[in-house]
Amino acid sequence: MPWTNPTTSMLVQRMTCHPERSVLQRSRKPALSLPKGTCVFGRAAFTFAAILLLVAISLPTAGQAPPTPAAQAPPPVPAPLPPQPPRFLVVLDAAHGGDDPGGRIGDQPEKAFTLALSVRLRSLLGARGIQVITTRESDATLDTARRAEIANHANAQACLSLHASTAGSGVHLFVSSLAPTQSTRLPAWKTAQAAWVTRSLALAGVVNSALLHDGLTVTLGRAGLPAIDSMACPALAIEVAPDHSSGASGPGPGPDAPSLDDPDYQARIAEALAAAVLEWKTEPRQP
Ligand SMILES: [Zn+2]
Repeated sequence: MPWTNPTTSMLVQRMTCHPERSVLQRSRKPALSLPKGTCVFGRAAFTFAAILLLVAISLPTAGQAPPTPAAQAPPPVPAPLPPQPPRFLVVLDAAHGGDDPGGRIGDQPEKAFTLALSVRLRSLLGARGIQVITTRESDATLDTARRAEIANHANAQACLSLHASTAGSGVHLFVSSLAPTQSTRLPAWKTAQAAWVTRSLALAGVVNSALLHDGLTVTLGRAGLPAIDSMACPALAIEVAPDHSSGASGPGPGPDAPSLDDPDYQARIAEALAAAVLEWKTEPRQP
């Protein structure tokens, strides 16, 4: 036994005080000893202090956490999901419809031409992976508020309202004439587009470039547009007219100018608009 047993220590202390020591006692010199001549009270105090020291050593340190069993391995952390591609959605609004035939385009009403263009453009965009919502897929009557409601509910990145006219030449692009304002959390319904006019002008620039790139004639303008004015997204009214500038007879109306009934002319316009939407999707400020 080491010299840490209190009982042994006390014995050793008593032996230390005794003048006649045995050989064994001398060979096992205690670790703790008192100088000769220490009084009885001093010995008792020293013994008591030694006991306290041994008890303190045997007790755990205050504030020290008791030993715990081996910590269990934490559950594996699931791998993060890959980032989702940003959502990009376009609303196509075939103007007029139902009780509203629009203008007269050759032997058909404007509402039929706009619906056919909307269907063709939806198909082209869908083939390019663009998500599309249309305001109508049939000869249905929709008021302007309903068209804006569809666009706003879709939270679209672009809304193209499609019109046709026999007046003018080429493609007319119209942006709302509302004065641009800062975005507000609760814009007035009939002027919601005011917060988006700047973005709509940027969209018009992209569409203009795509149409010009395809050799089409483009006219840019601003106009009061009830359906567009209520839309909270980049929005344009696109009015398609015969392209008098590309006929063999040169600029101006001519018998050989592409008419709105020309399938090739319709296809060119639809392809150019689809290219414009794809370009708009890559615009840096898209989500
Ligand atoms: Zn129209």
